[in-house]
Amino acid sequence: MASFASVTGHEVGSFAACPRQFWFSNRGIRMEPFSELVADGKLLSEKAYAYRAKRLRQIQIGRIKVDLYDPKRRLVYEIKRAPRLLSAHRMQLLFYLYYLEKLGFPDAKGYLVYPRHRKKILVELTPSAREELIRLLEALQQVRHQPKPPPLQRKSFCRKCAYYDLCWIREPLTPHSSKESP
Ligand code: SF4
Repeated sequence: MASFASVTGHEVGSFAACPRQFWFSNRGIRMEPFSELVADGKLLSEKAYAYRAKRLRQIQIGRIKVDLYDPKRRLVYEIKRAPRLLSAHRMQLLFYLYYLEKLGFPDAKGYLVYPRHRKKILVELTPSAREELIRLLEALQQVRHQPKPPPLQRKSFCRKCAYYDLCWIREPLTPHSSKESP
């Protein structure tokens, strides 16, 4: 069984989006506090919580923190800004469902909610989705223990990533660092 108790939902989402981003964050190199997009996402979740139906609540169990949970219908809601990273969001939500299952709350379902896009996507922990998640958790544990970050690989969303400067901004060559300098 893949280890899950030491992993957070944020880590799963981050790893699914980009293993390099996960590696940095796991080593304490956190760029999210400086990202306007991340701050905006947090604000959106807080707003959704403020206007939630009464039966919905925020829950924290172990290392997972769920945006909104309906205990009666066993529904987990994960609020996101934009579906740009939909597959990573899906893995994060699958992880919450898996975590709940392991703690004795099986058959929970989830919704990814994109309020600004008026979009709501159902996510279920089917046998194949569970296998997919377990493979991802195993890969995550391997990358966690790597001494170096995974190699740079340009992605379509790099420019919007909080780690963009760290990955892609290079110091310009000075006369002293240039190979052509005497
Ligand atoms: S900038 Fe691109 S390569 Fe670097 S961490 Fe972000 S997504 Fe990954």
